[in-house]
Amino acid sequence: MSIFSRIVAREIPADIVFESEAIIAFRDIAPQAPVHLLVVPKTEEFANVAELAGGDPALLSEMVSVANDLAAEHSNGEYRLIFNSGESAGQAVFHVHAHVLSGALQEGTLA
Ligand code: 5GP
Repeated sequence: MSIFSRIVAREIPADIVFESEAIIAFRDIAPQAPVHLLVVPKTEEFANVAELAGGDPALLSEMVSVANDLAAEHSNGEYRLIFNSGESAGQAVFHVHAHVLSGALQEGTLA
């Protein structure tokens, strides 16, 4: 089970800011900007955004919509939406997720 599935299952704690039937969103444990949220499909079936785009485009669309709504709620509505795809691109958790970042990034970091 991925670390994010363990958050979905409430096996490990997280600061959850949104939950629907298919999606959960919570604050990143190591924020790289004043607002740093992770938007995650509850299924861990898809490792990265390309798999999700091919396998369930409606779910990807819902993630983007949730990210946009959360950015409006938690910031001035202007944000970066980042999908790290692959280890050399900085992906560490192979359960697809979107980073929602708003406000100045910490120097030298990009999610
Ligand atoms: P990736 O590098 O895979 O794109 O992003 C994984 C993100 O998950 C990182 O920004 C990391 O800080 C965050 N993260 C890893 N483990 C946990 C956790 O247990 N709780 C929360 N809230 N975030 C986590």
